Amino acid sequence: ISDKERETMASNETDAASMAPQNDSHESIPQADLDDSDIQTNWDEAIETFDAMSLHDNLLRGIYAYGFEKPSAIQQRAIKPMTLGRDIIAQAQSGTGKTATFAVGILQMLDPATQQCQALILAPTRELAQQIVKVIVAISDFMDVKVHACVGGTAVRDDIRTLQNGVQVVVGTPGRVHDMINRRALRLDHMKIFALDEADEMLSRGFKDQIYEIFKFLPENVQCCLFSATMPLDILEITTRFMRDPIRILVKRDELTLEGIKQFYIAVEREEWKLDTLCDLYETLTITQAIIYCNTRRKVDWLTDRMTQKDFTVSSMHGDMDQRERDIIMREFRSGSSRVLITTDLLARGIDVQQVSLVINFDLPTNRENYIHRIGRSGRFGRKGVAINFLTQPDVRFLRDIEQFYNTQIEEMPMNVADLI
Ligand code: ADP
Repeated sequence: ISDKERETMASNETDAASMAPQNDSHESIPQADLDDSDIQTNWDEAIETFDAMSLHDNLLRGIYAYGFEKPSAIQQRAIKPMTLGRDIIAQAQSGTGKTATFAVGILQMLDPATQQCQALILAPTRELAQQIVKVIVAISDFMDVKVHACVGGTAVRDDIRTLQNGVQVVVGTPGRVHDMINRRALRLDHMKIFALDEADEMLSRGFKDQIYEIFKFLPENVQCCLFSATMPLDILEITTRFMRDPIRILVKRDELTLEGIKQFYIAVEREEWKLDTLCDLYETLTITQAIIYCNTRRKVDWLTDRMTQKDFTVSSMHGDMDQRERDIIMREFRSGSSRVLITTDLLARGIDVQQVSLVINFDLPTNRENYIHRIGRSGRFGRKGVAINFLTQPDVRFLRDIEQFYNTQIEEMPMNVADLI
């Protein structure tokens, strides 16, 4: 497909009706499972150290100074093709280091001799764009690079001034970026790389037209890089219209392991004693953040009520709540403003709650798989965690079964558990 065709297609593509409905939420698990169509990898090379990636010295210094020692799976695979100038589609679940992947790839590609804007990254929300800027700024600490967050909710005039003063990397949300292009504050003539974070969301209903509007203005030979946790088929379809022979990299999910997770049980004996046991643990829970799993929505509501009555601050979430409500609760939890979250297995799969170092099984899960989904970690960055299982008499057999199945140890909770978190 020629560049010309590519451009024409991009500008013609406005038929929103032709698109299949998207999964509205990354949090609604059953839907996401249905819509996921994992891409097929066509690039197998994995480079196991940052040193071996032929990166600029000052970039390498920044990576180590930021605290990274070893590249994650997606970083091992996707940074190299980016630095070769290839278009890429990279899929890996959240929390696996995609942000740093394109941060490093882009920083390596910048031409230090030009002050013009060379990389444009689009993200669906302001917060995400700002988060990306922080990562790029940190990693480029030893490089002379100006990075700017071009997002709504800030003064247009300031944006224009900053852009006119010269930045090499712009990270933004589509609306404001488009506006800045229209006002000719953001010049695209020297743009080398165009990256989309949360690409499936960016190319779905709400954003698609805006993205194409921006894409139209980019130089013909711009390198396109897409990053996403999920890649539904219809979105993948769309990418063929503007990407050139892209490298496709899929890092499979479910690399969950119980390694590094200390697992304990508390013999509560009877169901009725679980509540008091949990209250006794409350102080420990709030040392960092904790997720408490129950097996039913009703139980979640019940436990939340009882804890609240006893003046413990908890939040809760389950599938009976509407999406908006769930989004708010998740956001509060992710930001750390809520510290104890009571939920069902809805949360266990696929959601990035890497910062949670304590998980409580108020109820043991009803199957083995959910045990690892609740408690396991992708473990790539050596994160540690503690899991505590409330054990009634009838649960004992199941817990032994889990121990055997995962070849792991679940011991009685020691008094000093707080020291382990
Ligand atoms: P994603 O974009 O895939 O959701 P992030 O880039 O936000 O993931 O990374 C998740 C977390 O892992 C961040 O806190 C990030 O700093 C950390 N991280 C990423 N890459 C590495 C690495 N190579 N070594 C250690 N920590 C890393």
